Parts: sequence; structure tokens; C-alpha cells
Amino acid sequence: VPVATLLRRPADIIGTAGNARHPNIRASRDLYQPQRQNSRGMEFGDRAALSELVSAVAAEVTLEAGSIVDATPEQVDAAMSAAREGFKHWSRTPADRRARLLEQAANLLEQRAAHFIALLQREGGKTLDDALSEVRETVDFCRYYAAEGRELFGHDKTLPGPTGESNRLRLRGRGVFVAISPWNFPLAIFVGQVTAALMAGNAVLAKPAEQTPLIAAEAVRLLHEAGVPSSALHLLPGDGSIGAALVAHEGVAGVVFTGSTEVARSINRRLAAKDGPIVPLIAETGGINAMIVDATALPEQVADDVVTSAFRSAGQRCSALRLLFVQDDVADRMIEMIAGAARELAIGDPRDPATHVGPVIDAEAKQRLEAHIARMKREARVHFAGVAPDGNYVAPHIFELSSADQLTEEVFGPVLHVVRYPADRLDDVLQSVERSGYGLTLGIHSRIDDTIEDAIDRLQVGNIYVNRNMIGAVVGVQPFGGHGLSGTGPKAGGPHYLARFATEQTVTVNT
Ligand code: GLU
Repeated sequence: VPVATLLRRPADIIGTAGNARHPNIRASRDLYQPQRQNSRGMEFGDRAALSELVSAVAAEVTLEAGSIVDATPEQVDAAMSAAREGFKHWSRTPADRRARLLEQAANLLEQRAAHFIALLQREGGKTLDDALSEVRETVDFCRYYAAEGRELFGHDKTLPGPTGESNRLRLRGRGVFVAISPWNFPLAIFVGQVTAALMAGNAVLAKPAEQTPLIAAEAVRLLHEAGVPSSALHLLPGDGSIGAALVAHEGVAGVVFTGSTEVARSINRRLAAKDGPIVPLIAETGGINAMIVDATALPEQVADDVVTSAFRSAGQRCSALRLLFVQDDVADRMIEMIAGAARELAIGDPRDPATHVGPVIDAEAKQRLEAHIARMKREARVHFAGVAPDGNYVAPHIFELSSADQLTEEVFGPVLHVVRYPADRLDDVLQSVERSGYGLTLGIHSRIDDTIEDAIDRLQVGNIYVNRNMIGAVVGVQPFGGHGLSGTGPKAGGPHYLARFATEQTVTVNT
């Protein structure tokens, strides 16, 4: 079942049906249509097609998860030399051809959706709807960057000049880009980084998260099959030492990284310490993402959106809700409803289509989360403590803190922290969000326009969601990325992203 045939119900997708509501999606006119569910659509559009897909995925369970050999430091050198050669040819490949190869990759991904979903479940512990959404997002990235890239790189921009002089501005690849990706979107973010860098005319050395190298290997195989030359795209699996060797290499022209703030900092330091060219870093990191709920919010909707934002994907999204501020006069009722909705979540085997919350990525993550939960049980008020089955599962928990300052770092799992605020202290809430230094996602549930506008104006946050959940940014619709401790700002899936991977060249000719 091509994944594109799912969720094609007009109400669930934006695509052609929604263009009127999203007039700014330039590329979506006929070239590109986002194919994911809308913010509310946790259900699937086409039940019959879905059950066919589920059987196709089940048939893949015999799939050997496979094995991978880590790259060595010598291979880093060899790959760099090959990529520098590859760049010479790839950077001169016409933009339209580069775009067509990405579109071919999207077609292949759709054809092999079941295979990738099975692999996302096996290696990444993804639930069926998370895995399906991720394949769709990956397809979206390929098509969106192809469409954007054709416009940006397809022709030079003609600029004015006096008689007898022609001026044009060209965008071109920088050289060899290093792409370092996380395990939480082992397909979508991996392919998103790689295709953006390739579309901009760069050769790429890709270093996937050490927890999920097989998905990356399959994706690279598919991109090569689609026609991306093997000299322009190399996979270098391994642990952080491979990433460090890549970043430190003299041949690097740019780095794109998604992961922790701490690692982004260390990449930045390594790049700064090198001699030679000044190398740009595109980083997307985490956040202590907040949602503000005032007394005008609709409780049922809040409960639904909070549970989705905090606990879906086992809270392992960098966009996920970590800190909920609730106006105190409605707090008891809101918290009760949220806990009630959390109680309904099914935790368990991600291959069971009924599962809402699958495992966390590995034993180390589980241990870290359990230590945090144990501390919260001592220091905070427990509103909800779910029960997890054996294995790498962590059940959703809800804790009430007396102050937001008790949460000083991102907790990457299904743990929600709640803080009450008096109606006249909304300002303190905004200040506390500012003080955290993060700026990735923010949710607001309110019917008061001034409250909403004030928060939007004051806070330097990359993605703000009003009266809905705050995860699942759609390519081309909600360009995604944050500021401050949350990243260097470029928005994946947005119209300015590809230019960040390129250099500019002005050509003036005296005619
Ligand atoms: N783009 C994803 C979302 O909006 C999050 C990406 C991430 O976790 O790195 O939920």
C-alpha cells in the first residue's frame, strides 16, 4: 500500500484541499503536497488501506534486524577524500536533476513503506502511527526540498545594474557537509538533513545515531538506488568518536546536527578550534517546552492536547511538552482530566496497532528517566503514575512542582511537570519561560487574544501552537527549529532552510 494513499481524506490533510487556508505554501501548488495527518488526526483516514498496510508490516517481522559495522577513523579520511571528488561532479549536476532524484527517492519510500515501518518498529521502537507518520514526513522532506531546490538553485537571480553591466546572484553547494542525526526520528531527520544538503549541491558524510544505524543504512541504499551518486553520499555509522572525527576533519564545509544542546556546544567548540575556513553549524537541539493554560481554555481539548504533546512517542520528541503552566482556579479540574486521559493510554509492544506508548530507546534512557521519576516522587506532588510492562518501558507520569525552577534540564521521556499560577501572575510565567534560555516549542490554550499575542511577541520561541497540541510539525506547513539553547534557528521543512546549506556568489559582467 503506497503510504500516500492513506490519510488522503480532505479534512485530514492540507494538500490541495487546504491551500486556501495556507496560501503561503508556495511549493504545494501542484508540486508538493504535505501528506500527513492534521494536528487532531490521530486516527487513520482509510481503515481498509490501513489494515492492508498492517498485514504488509506484519509480513516483514521475519526481517532480520541486521547488523552494522562501525566506521573507522581511516574510513573517515577515505570517505572525505571520495566526497570531495564527488562534490565536484554533484555540485554541477543541474538542480532539476538533483530534484528528480529526490522525488524518485520519495517514490521508492512510498513503495517500501511497510518495510520502513517494520524497521522503525524493530530498531526504533516506534508505534504504528508514529512509524507511519515518520515515513510520510520523510516523503514530505524529499518532495518539499526537491520543489524548493528547483526554484532556489534552478536559475540565477538577475539583479539590476547600470547599462553595460549584468549582475546575477547564484546559490551553490559549500562542499562536503557532515550530517549528524538523532535516534528519535531515525528516518525523517536523517533523510531530511541529507536531502537538504544534497539538494543544495553538497556532498554528504552522514553519521546516524549509534542506536539506529540500520534504518540509516537502508535510507542511504534507497537514495543511491534513486540515483544519488555513491561518491556524493557516504554513510559513516559509529559512536560519538566518529562524529567527533568528522567534525574535526579539515575537509568539512558545514555541519548539520540534531541532538542535545551539550553535543551541539561541543561541535561548535571543535569547529571553532580548527584552522582553515570558518565552518557553519546548523543545530537543532532540545527544549524545556512549556504550555500555558488559562481559565478560558476548553478542558476536554486541553486534556487531549496535553496527553498527545507530553506522552505520544513516549515523550521522545524534542518538541514534546515538558512543563505545563495552569491557572490556579481551574488547575484541579484540568489536572484531573489530564490524568484521566493519561490513564487511557495503552503502553506496550509498538507492533500492536492498539499501542499508544511504546518503549524508550534503550536501557540507559530508561535508567535516566527512572532516576528522574524517583527524584520527582520525593520532591513533587504525584498526580499520575502509570504502570509499565517489563522491558525498556517507562510509563507516563504527572508531577506538580511548586516552582518551574525545579526543572532545570530537558527530561526526554513521558514525564509531565505541572506548575500552577495565579491569574494576575501570567507575567511571571512568561518570564520563567524566557529565563530557561530554551526556545523550541510553546503551547497556549486561551481564548483571550491579548494573552496569546503578548506571549507570541515576547517569547523567542521557534514554534508556537495556539489551542492545539504542540508536536508533529508538518513539512512546508510548520517549519521546525528553535533559538537559544534550542538551536541556531534554521527551520527544517521551511522555505529558508536550503539556503543555509549553500554559499552565494555574485557575478558581475561588463558587457
Ligand atoms: N519535528 C518534530 C515534531 O514537530 C520533532 C523533531 C524532533 O524531535 O527532533 O514533533
